[in-house]
Amino acid sequence: MNGERPEQGDIAREQSETITSLRDLRSDFHMHTLTSREAGDPRGTYTMEELAGYIEDHVGIKEGEKPGVEYISITDHATNDTVVPQGPEEKVDQRILAQKVEIDRLNESGKFPGLTVLAGTETALSPEGVPDVSNHVLEQLDVVVASIHEPPDLSGEERMAAYRQAVENPYIDILGHPFGATWWGKSHDWLSEEQSQELIDLAIEHDKAIEINVAQLDHYPSTLLQIIAASGVKVSMGTDTHDNPQIKDQKPLGVSGWRPYARTARAIGKAGIKKENILNTYSLAEYRAWRQTRIERFTSPA
Ligand SMILES: [Zn+2]
Ligand SMILES: [Zn+2]
Repeated sequence: MNGERPEQGDIAREQSETITSLRDLRSDFHMHTLTSREAGDPRGTYTMEELAGYIEDHVGIKEGEKPGVEYISITDHATNDTVVPQGPEEKVDQRILAQKVEIDRLNESGKFPGLTVLAGTETALSPEGVPDVSNHVLEQLDVVVASIHEPPDLSGEERMAAYRQAVENPYIDILGHPFGATWWGKSHDWLSEEQSQELIDLAIEHDKAIEINVAQLDHYPSTLLQIIAASGVKVSMGTDTHDNPQIKDQKPLGVSGWRPYARTARAIGKAGIKKENILNTYSLAEYRAWRQTRIERFTSPA
């Protein structure tokens, strides 16, 4: 702050530099709905209204309370996440734009007054680093998570080659679950420590966030969060909520996502990642400004 008067909203940040309470968190950047089924993922279980309703009821802002979750991002798959993507397709672009119209309508309906639903996608990168959604569509969205899904045994070097291309795309905000995962029951360490470090450096250089996927926390090497904290790279927490259709009627929504979210938040706090580097602590206006500033920086002529 350099002795300047803090802006409103910066006060909480001054008191504590990292997450100390779940109420520090304003967003979930990675959620799937039933629409992911149209891309071939059978695990999309909820409508966006069900997701929004759950969030507002359980972790949203209530009158007279401290800030809670004020926005969520619907990031359905663009194409089937079990097939190697081949680049953009017109019908996929159209589906994503149609969902954005639905999201605009939901926000305008006033049904969830404390919550804004952001229009996003989880675009799959080809091994050449090309998203499966056209740039003119990515540009119109609020949140773009870019992930490598197939092939799951792509080597770390091949992954890095894809990421080196992808970070040049100014519309990508978040690199989804890059480090490794338990993937369809099989454990993968996708990047070595050196490659993880290179990815972090690329993200800093191009002002991308890297995702700490809350479903994969147990998979991460114990030093990863410390490395991330020391680097100053921006991070985004995403629940990657899909849920299994069979549990829909038996367990409250979020069981698969929200408990791990709380656990991940504690781990991030413990590692000392600063709030200014955790997108989930940004107000909606701060998040939008971050995305816009980067797009302008990397698209304006030199
Ligand atoms: Zn994914
Ligand atoms: Zn996902």
